[in-house]
Amino acid sequence: MGGFFGVVSKEDCVLDVYFGTDYHSHLGTSRGGLAFWSGSGFKRSIHNIENIQFRAKFDAEIPKIKGNMGIGCISDTDPQPLTVRSHLGHYAISTVGRINNLNELTERAFTRQNVHFLETNQGHINPTELVSVMIDQEQSFKDGLLKAQDLIEGSCSILLLTPDGIYAARDKWGRTPLVVGKKDGAYCVAFESCTFANLGYVFDYELGPGEIVLITEDGVQKVAPPRAQMKICAFLWVYYGYPSSTYSGMNVEVMRYRNGAALARNDGIDIDMVAGIPDSGVGHAIGYSNESRIPFGRPFIKYTPTWSRSFMPQDQKVRNLVARMKLMPIPELVAKKRLLFCDDSIVRGTQMRETVDLLYQCNASEVHVRSACPPIVHGCKYLNFSASRSHMDLATRQSILELEGHEPDSLQAYCDPSTAKYQAMVEHIGKKLNFSSLKYQTIHDMVDAIGIGAENICTYCWTGKE
Ligand code: SF4
Repeated sequence: MGGFFGVVSKEDCVLDVYFGTDYHSHLGTSRGGLAFWSGSGFKRSIHNIENIQFRAKFDAEIPKIKGNMGIGCISDTDPQPLTVRSHLGHYAISTVGRINNLNELTERAFTRQNVHFLETNQGHINPTELVSVMIDQEQSFKDGLLKAQDLIEGSCSILLLTPDGIYAARDKWGRTPLVVGKKDGAYCVAFESCTFANLGYVFDYELGPGEIVLITEDGVQKVAPPRAQMKICAFLWVYYGYPSSTYSGMNVEVMRYRNGAALARNDGIDIDMVAGIPDSGVGHAIGYSNESRIPFGRPFIKYTPTWSRSFMPQDQKVRNLVARMKLMPIPELVAKKRLLFCDDSIVRGTQMRETVDLLYQCNASEVHVRSACPPIVHGCKYLNFSASRSHMDLATRQSILELEGHEPDSLQAYCDPSTAKYQAMVEHIGKKLNFSSLKYQTIHDMVDAIGIGAENICTYCWTGKE
């Protein structure tokens, strides 16, 4: 994943870019970067943020930087933004997405014989540099951005900071959002619209799928129109989008309340308390509680002073340890209680199993789990979401393998709640993870809670349908 933010202003905008980029910290954990246009060149800085927050790394530099235009990014993979000088001029570039045909596009670039790549990421070509090379092979930024959109398989949204303004190009299927905000004398562009309010911006414009605009201090110029079809990622609302952000007119927290309410309407279980696994499970749990009129509580508290951000070490053992250290149970609220937990999703299930075991150690009498989305049966192939995980790490696929003894030819029956295979899989997962009961949201109710039309939403990881 990853996120980015940019500003074009009549006045210095360094602090806006700094804070606006910081508000994307929940989207990535690898590198943070800023680039500002000074009038004659770029001031650019990139830091490793794997073990430290974005602001802590950039704090000392910010007072020394000046600029009326800048972009910043939080990256889960490659160092960004990159600064480039080509026949198109100076520019800085940042991307969000996942390029599945990176090798093929690299070979394509080499056919020109005058191309090389300087930036490497652990021996691999930096995908953002590849995008810049694709842009440079055309005669204008517009043509270059359109070509990159056409050729990239996976997804890719792009910000280009140029002396004339910021080009913003949304992924051709609109898998991730891109929104423009405005205030007196300045425009910003963001993945997350939650950046606007505290920086004084108000919503101005949301780019459609594949749309390209040029943002200057005077406004938004249309460069290329939106495409007809959108497939925005449903997981934005369910899990990784920030609660105060809105995409396609639907706010994240509001969707979670609607989604939790739908979960409750399909339930009817006798319990003492509804709770959410922090952070994203909480919104779904509030919706469940409001609808069912069963009290909402916090039998688990997240230790926010030092575990305030998503922190995803690559090593699974360290990841489990971090997950355990983040959450503290309150035994007085757990003992002898029948608890129902809403979680955003169940991916591997290992962390959830540890959480439930801890609740039983605190003498919970029952621990029921409700997943805010359907069973994840397919890995995401469009974003770097869960990129490091193999399909067989998914709790569903492990259970299917254990139930069938081999990988079935078709997974379709496991995506359909009306089949015996689906029921057997859910029961198997619930038993393995030691839940008193397990239920998943249905695809229909989740899509309904998003409320922008099923045809506009990507649900591939639950349905296997493109
Ligand atoms: S496959 Fe899943 S995670 Fe990936 S874009 Fe589609 S909905 Fe989002």
